[in-house]
Amino acid sequence: MAEAPQEPRPEAPCPDAPRPDPAALLAWYDRAARRLPWRTPPGAAARPDPYAVWLSEIMLQQTTVAAVIPYFQTFIRRWPTVAELAAAPEDQVMAAWAGLGYYARARNMLRCARIVAAAGGRFPADEAALRALPGIGPYTAAAIAAIAFDIPATVVDGNVERVMARLFAATDPLPAVKPRLRALAAGLTPARRPGDYAQAVMDLGATVCTPRKPDCPACPWREACAARRLGLAAELPRKAPRRARPHRRGVVFVGLREDGALLLETRPPEGLLGGMTGLPGGAWREAAEPLDDPAPPCPGDWRRLTAEARHVFTHFALTLEIRAARLGPEAAPEGGAFFAPDARARAAELPTVFRKAVELALPELEAAGPGR
Ligand code: SF4
Repeated sequence: MAEAPQEPRPEAPCPDAPRPDPAALLAWYDRAARRLPWRTPPGAAARPDPYAVWLSEIMLQQTTVAAVIPYFQTFIRRWPTVAELAAAPEDQVMAAWAGLGYYARARNMLRCARIVAAAGGRFPADEAALRALPGIGPYTAAAIAAIAFDIPATVVDGNVERVMARLFAATDPLPAVKPRLRALAAGLTPARRPGDYAQAVMDLGATVCTPRKPDCPACPWREACAARRLGLAAELPRKAPRRARPHRRGVVFVGLREDGALLLETRPPEGLLGGMTGLPGGAWREAAEPLDDPAPPCPGDWRRLTAEARHVFTHFALTLEIRAARLGPEAAPEGGAFFAPDARARAAELPTVFRKAVELALPELEAAGPGR
């Protein structure tokens, strides 16, 4: 017979400290729970509507509680059931969502609503079945299972990680310490009132055990908390130092024709800024590698400017050397480059890194006058 999976053994935060008691947290929650429109009051016999819990959790992904409340209220007023949301035209749902950002979330939300409505309008009371629905990841599935169905699912978000790291003085940095924090959270999740407990830990992290200034005297777990005893509370959780962003360099050509037209090209479809209009230039290579310094896209008196265009993308920083030239009416671009009228207006429409290069070059080119 296969062995039953082992429950994680709860750790004691400090040898001489009491174990954190979920009942103490629930008693605090009964007094201090945040009143939110998708919740039922602590300890209420009636569970909240799974549709409302699901809708709120989808909206709360990457958005704050304060920003979500008015959107949640609008959606619930307009589409009080999952069947009504499922029947709504997509453009109306997207218009109601406008401002919450991350539109893929809204599309997945509507897909999910349609699947649930087609299956009879009930959300599954099962964490794995919830995870199989569009837009529901591990955190959201656990949150819906716990809050809507009172299943003892382990709900771990940034708030819960912070509380666990402090409670047990877990000093290893994120993200490596995440599995331990999850195991610690699982070890504390009670069989009694797990839905209220999940919301209680979230509320503790959001209102008492806050990132910078935890209010330890107000905390129901203050006696058990190892970080408070060790004076480490505000330092935890630690984060692994960010790796330095790679630095790349490249060359761009800013060509201004005498009638004010700007020399541009359409970038290759693949890669960063693929398919967008940009300045002609070379490849962007790691700064330690030799610079790709191609031939100019048309003959002219090209000069290197002392100023360089700098821009930071998510995964690397870029410095572009600028070659600039004032070009005559006979200039004939090669290699797919073309002239577009009104350099300043076109520059405003370019991706930021190219706009910066044009803004650095234009004053010099305009001051140089024809013939440079
Ligand atoms: Fe957080 Fe302080 Fe409570 Fe510890 S005692 S869990 S650091 S608020």
